[in-house]
Amino acid sequence: MERIDKIVQKFRRSGIRNILENIPLSTQSSWRIGGPADLLVEPEGVKQVADTILILTELEVPYVVIGNGTNLLFDDGGLRGVIVKIAGAFSYILIDGLNVIGGAGVPVCRLARRVGDIGLTGIEHIVGIPGTLGGLVVMNGGSQRQSISDVVVDVTVVKLNGQSVKVPSRYCDFSYRSSSFQESKDIVVEVSLKLQRGDIDDIHRRMLEILRNRRNKFPGREPNCGSVFLSDPTTYKEIGPPGKMIEEAGCKGWSVGDAQVSAKHANFIVNLGHASSKDVIELIGKVRQEVYEQVGVWLQCEIKCITVSGETVRLDQFGN
Ligand SMILES: Cc1cc2nc3c(=O)[nH]c(=O)nc-3n(C[C@H](O)[C@H](O)[C@H](O)COP(=O)(O)OP(=O)(O)OC[C@H]3O[C@@H](n4cnc5c(N)ncnc54)[C@H](O)[C@@H]3O)c2cc1C
Repeated sequence: MERIDKIVQKFRRSGIRNILENIPLSTQSSWRIGGPADLLVEPEGVKQVADTILILTELEVPYVVIGNGTNLLFDDGGLRGVIVKIAGAFSYILIDGLNVIGGAGVPVCRLARRVGDIGLTGIEHIVGIPGTLGGLVVMNGGSQRQSISDVVVDVTVVKLNGQSVKVPSRYCDFSYRSSSFQESKDIVVEVSLKLQRGDIDDIHRRMLEILRNRRNKFPGREPNCGSVFLSDPTTYKEIGPPGKMIEEAGCKGWSVGDAQVSAKHANFIVNLGHASSKDVIELIGKVRQEVYEQVGVWLQCEIKCITVSGETVRLDQFGN
């Protein structure tokens, strides 16, 4: 308790006011899974991001940066540390000709619609993704076999020493659903994109079609975290997407506790009500093992798993 009070005091002295104590992480994840985090802080600008990181580093407190929590599995035990949420203050969009600057907290569906409405094309594929721009860049997310890196010019980050740096796209090490920020732990605060001029009706038509497809293909109601396994381009070409392999291996509908391989899309694991992180991890292990035995492919995870001590781990070593 003393430790938490000390952190809160330091935050307040730096003018950081958006602080919540003992927050259930199930409220911060689209999977609706996760025990309590000691603190959640939502910085109101770049300086507060830097101050937050410097304070937490000085006090040796573990922290995890999140956007909208749509690619994260939190632990049932929660987090003995601090969630740094990049949201409201970073949800601006600035447009100048073909150049678009977005704050890291802007919901990407809003960004896609906003630029589409004025005839800018290049990011229609992100219209149905529920994350923030920061999370999307860190994950190099996208759909329709496209990635946000296709249009990124540069990414402004706050480094661990508190300095802000603009990183040109070629230094972001973008590859399929991966970027240098997953390793560097830099905090993305702003992203600059270059789009193309397009026909507004075409853009709207494409976005509507994408949204319709997603509604038909993806589970709608049950909480989930999108695709669990990576659909890497080589395996996709040679064998197909993970959903197809999981279905072929007969795992559709498999469950552990309240975690279930979606009956609608086999690469989604849905929370039927009270799924725990343990249930999800066990189910991932079982599916991966079965796919390996039946199809011969060892699936890699797209989702990030956050431990109680704040480490981000891939679940790739888990199998039965
Ligand atoms: C229904 C559904 C459909 C989905 N469909 C797709 C899809 O079509 N394509 C796709 O690519 N993804 C998809 N996803 C996954 C997810 O939405 C994306 O990966 C998204 O980009 C994550 O953004 P987020 O803000 O939720 O990030 P989070 O889940 O909060 O974080 C993801 C990772 O990024 C880090 N991070 C987040 N923000 C920052 C920041 N500002 N600075 C530094 N690190 C940060 C976190 O630490 C974490 O490691 C889907 C998810 C759901 C639930």
